[in-house]
Amino acid sequence: MSSDNDIPMPRRWSAWQAIALYVTAMTCLLTLLILLVAVGQNAGSWLYDWRHKVLVLSCGWLLVALAGLLALVHYLRLRKTEAELLRSERRLWHINRSLQAELRIAAMAFETHLGMFITDARGRIQKVNRTFEAITGYRESEVLGCNPRMLNSGRHPPEFYREMWQHIHDEGSWQGELWNRRKNGDTYPQRLTISAVTDDAGEVTHYVATLSDITTRKAAEQEAYRLAYYDPLTGLPNRRMMLDRIGHALEAYARTQQQGAVLFIDLDGFKHVNDSLGHQQGDDVLQLVARRFEEAGHDGDLVARIGGDEFVILVEALGEDLEMASQAAERKANKLLAALAEPFRVGEQRHPVSGSIGITLLGDGTESVEECLQQAEMAMYQAKQAGRNTLRFFDPVMQAVAVRRAMLESDLRQAVAHDQLHLFYQVQVDEAERVMGVEALLRWQHPEHGMVPPGDFIPVAEESYLIVSIGRWVLETACRQLAAWAARAETSGMTMAVNISPHQFQQPDFVAEVEAVLEETQAPPERLKLELTETLFLEEPEIARATMLRLKTLGVRFSLDDFGTGYSSLSYLNRLPLDQLKIDQSFVRPLFEDSANEVISASIIQLGRNLGLEVIAEGVETEAHREWLAGQGCDAYQGYLFSRPLPLDDLETLLETSACTTGR
Ligand code: C2E
Ligand code: MG
Ligand code: MG
Repeated sequence: MSSDNDIPMPRRWSAWQAIALYVTAMTCLLTLLILLVAVGQNAGSWLYDWRHKVLVLSCGWLLVALAGLLALVHYLRLRKTEAELLRSERRLWHINRSLQAELRIAAMAFETHLGMFITDARGRIQKVNRTFEAITGYRESEVLGCNPRMLNSGRHPPEFYREMWQHIHDEGSWQGELWNRRKNGDTYPQRLTISAVTDDAGEVTHYVATLSDITTRKAAEQEAYRLAYYDPLTGLPNRRMMLDRIGHALEAYARTQQQGAVLFIDLDGFKHVNDSLGHQQGDDVLQLVARRFEEAGHDGDLVARIGGDEFVILVEALGEDLEMASQAAERKANKLLAALAEPFRVGEQRHPVSGSIGITLLGDGTESVEECLQQAEMAMYQAKQAGRNTLRFFDPVMQAVAVRRAMLESDLRQAVAHDQLHLFYQVQVDEAERVMGVEALLRWQHPEHGMVPPGDFIPVAEESYLIVSIGRWVLETACRQLAAWAARAETSGMTMAVNISPHQFQQPDFVAEVEAVLEETQAPPERLKLELTETLFLEEPEIARATMLRLKTLGVRFSLDDFGTGYSSLSYLNRLPLDQLKIDQSFVRPLFEDSANEVISASIIQLGRNLGLEVIAEGVETEAHREWLAGQGCDAYQGYLFSRPLPLDDLETLLETSACTTGR
């Protein structure tokens, strides 16, 4: 470390030393003079004329003393000046040292991991560091005096540089990212900072630029972006990117009145391809589908894969006219369907794949991004229902129904727990119009919507499988009532028909459940009539039949509800342990309006007879109906002619006043 001691100091007397020397010299001189005069002379001669001698001696000494004093003062002044000089010298030395240090620091700072170059005010390169050389590939000697323009990649328009220099001019510096070109011709991304250096007068003397090569960072960023916004299997944009782009489109359309469309495509039967060929080949097919969609799409279209076999295509700039825009979207959808027409070749095999497309237009910009996608998806489901390999446009009415359904479902979940479900009973009468039993019909007392008819909520309960728990409650309640009637002589012959939904029937423990309910309620099994519908026998008829046979061993009876509306094969009917056919009300109520209804009703009655089954007609509203049906040989009747479905109390009143059968 440096210190003041390092400064070379000349050897000098101090002021006090000089004064002491002076005084000593004068005293010595005085003594010498006295001795010179007095030594060798006798006292008489010395004393003679002593006044004169003292005067001479004093004058001489004073002269010498004065001269000495002058010399002393001069010496002291010299000393002072010399000390000041020394101080200045020291200051200068310090300044010099720190300047040197600063220069060393600056030189070290210049050689950093950042590339640096310095230009003069006219932009001519004056100095570059080693990192600059490493990044750009140019040696310092090759660029000295050149304009940094030589590094331009040509990727940025002239305005870019104009704005950059304007910023440096206004703010004194600029920083940002840009593409430059290395000596070998490669372009690369770099982060650049340029600062103007000014003199005391504010005039720019130099520009200092630092730059760093951000190729690696950019690559990492791009990789992260790719992972976040692209589907790894097909390389197509993913759901996130699609949502982003729909968002931008909606914003733009809100300003420009332009129309765009979202096409939601779900492949038909792809699950089958996957299951039968394995996932590897399934993936291959998806990749091929992606390529075909890309080819079928226009340049500006965004084709994305948003899930398993779901693709979404955003078609933009369809013009301002709604009609024209929907036609264009439809053409595009047809093109996509056509793109799938040719089977896909994977390995040796060819796999036919079709698609169902839902379309929604992005016209008024009022929907949210998610809503748009949901609308297109909903329309896609419509296309599926319409038989697949087709397209459908989103329909707001359809959406309202879906929303209502969703709300209904969530309310329905509460219904069982909150005692909002009730059973009504509609009587069934025999040929003599005696009440032989009832059909239990579910009612939902909704806290806000009042009495919701089963036609509205049973399908919802079916789809959500809520019907399983609701059905159990119905069965239990109906059986408890059946047991109560069985215990009373006047109602002991009453039967109870209970509607069983397919889902409920297909539960593996359904037989055990019925058995447990019968056991628990002590209801007579032979008076319990389970109403099944034909749909139950469409998919797995053998399983349904087996379940029926097991239930039959418990003693329960079966009625085939809504008969004539389904597609069950008549030959199959013969193999089922049925007891009753129920002519659907859709033939009975308008019996005389269309002769076909008469023909169908008469045929069902005839069929029932031939198969040895009882036939009951529901929807009997007039005496004319009953008479005609009786004429055909119908065994039993249910309908408003006899009674509407009633709550238990009203039914009890009705039973008191009417005749009941004592059982069959
Ligand atoms: P369904 O089993 O065919 O029941 C007969 C329906 O016809 C009942 O409607 C009944 O009120 C109505 N009906 C009977 N006679 C006449 C008539 O003369 N004229 C008119 N216009 N209608 C008549 P509801 O109670 O609205 O039930 C509708 C459907 O809901 C039932 O058809 C049944 O499929 C289902 N359902 C009702 N309760 C249950 C239940 O507890 N479980 C299951 N799974 N489904 C049920
Ligand atoms: Mg029924
Ligand atoms: Mg029916």
